Amino acid sequence: MQTPDSTSMVIVGAGHCGGRAAQALRTAGWLGPIHLVGDEPHAPYERPPLSKDLLTGGKQAAECALHSADDWASLHITRHVAQVTALHPASRSITLSGGQTLGYQSLLLATGGKVRTLSIPGGDLPEVLTLRNLMDAATLGSRLVPGHRLLVVGGGFIGLEVAASARKLGCEVTLVEGAPRLMGRAVPEPVAERALALHRAQGVRVLLGASPHSIARTAEGLCMALADGTQIVADTVLAGIGIVPDLALPGAAGLAVGRGICVNAQLQTSLPGIFAAGDVAEFPSVLSGQLVRQETWHNAETQAAIAAQNMLGGIDGNLVAYTAFPWFWSDQYHYQLQVAGEPALATHSATRALDGDGLLIFYLDASDTLVGACGWGETSRVAKDLKLARTLVEKGVTASAEALADPATKLKAFLSNAR
Ligand code: ADP
Repeated sequence: MQTPDSTSMVIVGAGHCGGRAAQALRTAGWLGPIHLVGDEPHAPYERPPLSKDLLTGGKQAAECALHSADDWASLHITRHVAQVTALHPASRSITLSGGQTLGYQSLLLATGGKVRTLSIPGGDLPEVLTLRNLMDAATLGSRLVPGHRLLVVGGGFIGLEVAASARKLGCEVTLVEGAPRLMGRAVPEPVAERALALHRAQGVRVLLGASPHSIARTAEGLCMALADGTQIVADTVLAGIGIVPDLALPGAAGLAVGRGICVNAQLQTSLPGIFAAGDVAEFPSVLSGQLVRQETWHNAETQAAIAAQNMLGGIDGNLVAYTAFPWFWSDQYHYQLQVAGEPALATHSATRALDGDGLLIFYLDASDTLVGACGWGETSRVAKDLKLARTLVEKGVTASAEALADPATKLKAFLSNAR
């Protein structure tokens, strides 16, 4: 067994957030050992292409990597392909599945989440897949040939992006969503309605309020029965029904956990020297102060930088607060949606028509300050407007709903109303 080395920086979770944090420690000037522990065989990579370009062949797995093998080598980061079996906050050390102990000066938990599986009879058949990592994408991608019958469960981002990719590849796609609408977790209703219309126009059979009951293998293929008796025959089922953070390890070590690992604005957990970031962290929203958890590329990217800085003691001895506004996007066919800020905090909204059939909804608080924006449209026609809308939210622009809705006023003009 190695002796714990209290001069090390240790990161658990070698996904996007963990990988970025390791890199950020070096950028910030840390010269000591960095250990990056993760149970995937691949070096850290970005997940957005998994449901899109990686399935359609627009990108290869190597192009999703955060860094090339050479770049990783030059950063002098020790990667451990292992699971962490215990955290020992009192001795500032962790145990790996192989029995090795790593000591730390600061520890970052960037463990993301485990993909939810379909807990119905037949949900464990080998043709029932999930999509969270590169191997999952390779398995799913190899099946998506023209004429293949794909049944997607879940009308969230993964489900809809995979449905769009599969249609591009010539598959027959049915999508069942348990809720009465698509993307209920994070996208306002008017945009979800546009997305629904687009998927239907692209040939996806979408069933809302549909509850999967069981899956059986029959002579025609897999047969899913819904609770209302509807039967759907498919070759492959993909469950895109979210992820759940694994809180057993931090919970057993005495860290405060809620819907994620609880952290303060500086991304510190309840125990000294331990930070959490990315999908697994439940942190105070900069806009509302309420505890939120975000499963986005942007959250992984920006929290990694702050966590790394704070693992090293902050700047001039002061820990740095995480103040980035929420932001995410989803690409479906040649359309894009973006959400910036927190639309849920609004008291009123303003809808602006964009080029083509695009739309942009601004969300305002009682004092007419922008707290969020959600846009949708053909990517090539609306990308600039969606970017500007995000900037207006981040700058805390104040404007009347009437002015924001009026296409005669250029979006740029509102920049002069910034906080
Ligand atoms: P992901 O990132 O995997 O897309 P989301 O939370 O964005 O996760 O979306 C998951 C979607 O799956 C939600 O719209 C949710 O209502 C839906 N869902 C969850 N469980 C089921 C289920 N058993 N059957 C049908 N839909 C489900």
